[in-house]
Amino acid sequence: MHSAPKPHNWGNPPWRIDFIPSARGGLPDVLDFAVIGGGFTGLAAAAWLRKIAPEKSVTVLEAWKVGDGASGRTGGMALSESAAGDLPGLGDVLAGFKEILGEFGVDCDQRFAGAWEIARKKGLAKSSIFWNDSGTLQVTKEVEGGTVDPGKLVSGLARAADRLGALILENHPVTDIAWRDIPEIAVTPRASASRKISARKIIFATNALSLKLSELEEGMHPKLTLAVATEPVHEEQLAQIGLAERKPFYTSDLPYLWGRVCENNSIIFGAGLVQAPHSDDLIDADISAAEVPQIFDSLEKRVRGLHPALKLVQFTHRWGGPILFRDSWEPIFMWHPEAKKTRNAIVISAFAGHGVALSSYLGRWGAEALLGHRKLPSWGKLDS
Ligand SMILES: Cc1cc2nc3c(=O)[nH]c(=O)nc-3n(C[C@H](O)[C@H](O)[C@H](O)COP(=O)(O)OP(=O)(O)OC[C@H]3O[C@@H](n4cnc5c(N)ncnc54)[C@H](O)[C@@H]3O)c2cc1C
Repeated sequence: MHSAPKPHNWGNPPWRIDFIPSARGGLPDVLDFAVIGGGFTGLAAAAWLRKIAPEKSVTVLEAWKVGDGASGRTGGMALSESAAGDLPGLGDVLAGFKEILGEFGVDCDQRFAGAWEIARKKGLAKSSIFWNDSGTLQVTKEVEGGTVDPGKLVSGLARAADRLGALILENHPVTDIAWRDIPEIAVTPRASASRKISARKIIFATNALSLKLSELEEGMHPKLTLAVATEPVHEEQLAQIGLAERKPFYTSDLPYLWGRVCENNSIIFGAGLVQAPHSDDLIDADISAAEVPQIFDSLEKRVRGLHPALKLVQFTHRWGGPILFRDSWEPIFMWHPEAKKTRNAIVISAFAGHGVALSSYLGRWGAEALLGHRKLPSWGKLDS
C-alpha cells in the first residue's frame, strides 16, 4: 500500500487554471474507465472516451488539482513528433493535437507559427537571435510548432471532459491497485477515509509521479525541471532581443536553454534539472531547499546576460515541474505489465520535455486502444 501523496513545494507558474468540476456526486463503487491523473494526457483521454463511448462511465482521479503536475507548469511550447523524433506509425502529432482542440472547442491562445532551434554555431541568414550564452546563440533551424497557454489548455480539456459527462475528482489520490478480474483501485481522498472501487479499464496518466503504480521504476529518470518568468517587457525590447515574432526556442546544444514569449509580453526561460533528495519521489523535491535557489540565481543571471536589452529585467516567477526521461527518449505507451493479457490498463508517460501536443495526442489514442479501436505501437513498450 502506498501512502497518499503529500503537498509539494514546486513554486508557482504564471498560468491560471480556472476549471471547477461540476458537482456530480462522489466516488462510484464500480466504473467502466478510471483515468489516473488529471494532466493533459488524462483529461484528453477522459474527454475522448466519453466522446466515442458516451454510454461508458469515466472518472478522472487526480491527486491534487487538475494541472498540478507538469501540465499546469509546462512552458507550453507545442512541438511535432516526440523527444526521440518521429517514430514508426506515430502520425502527425501537431495535426492531431489541433484536431483535439477543434473537436472540444478549446481556446488556449494557440499559435502555430513555428519554433526555433538555436545553437552556438553559425545561424540562418535570417536569424534575429544573437545571444551571449557560452558562445553566440543563433537560430539554426525553424521547425513546426508554436505555443499554447497551458492553464487554458488544462482548463479547456477538463471542461470538455466534464461537459461530456466524465466525473473529475480532485484531491483523490490513488494509493494502490489490486489486480483482480476487475481491478480494484484504492483511493484515499484527502478529506475522508480510504475507499476501494472497481474499474473495468484503467489509464495510468501520472507522468513522473507514482512510478510504482504504473510499474515504471526501472530505467526511468524522474526530475524536477526549472523555469522562470520575467516581468512583461516592451515590444521594442522584444524586437531588440529578436523575439518580436514570438516563436518559442530551445537549444540543440548544451548548456540547455528554452523559452517563449507569453501573451502579456513576459518571457519564460527554462533550464536546470533537480533530483528528489533521497529517492525518485519528486514530491520530496523542494525548490526552496539545498542548491535549488542557486540554480535559479544562475539561470536569471544567464538570462540578464543574453542581451543588453535584458540586463535589468526583473523576474516574477520561479517554479519547477515533474518530468520523466527514458533512456531511449521514446515515450511510454504500453499495456500495463499486469494487463498484458487482459488488455484492460494502459500506461502513457515519459514525454521528457516534449509532451504538450504529444500527451493529448496519445491520450486520445490510448482511449481508442482501450475500446479496441486501435493498436498500441511497439516503441512505447518498456522492452522496445
Ligand atoms: C517546467 C516544464 C516545462 C515544460 N515545457 C514543455 C514545453 O515547452 N513543450 C513540451 O512539449 N513539453 C514541455 N514539458 C513537458 C510537458 O509539460 C509534459 O510532458 C506534459 O504536461 C505531461 O502531461 P501528463 O498529463 O502526462 O502529466 P502531468 O501533467 O504531470 O499529469 C500527471 C497527473 O497525475 C497526477 N497524479 C500523480 N500520481 C497520482 C496518483 N497516485 N493518483 C492520482 N493522481 C496522480 C498528478 O497530480 C498530475 O496532475 C515541460 C514540463 C515541465 C515540468
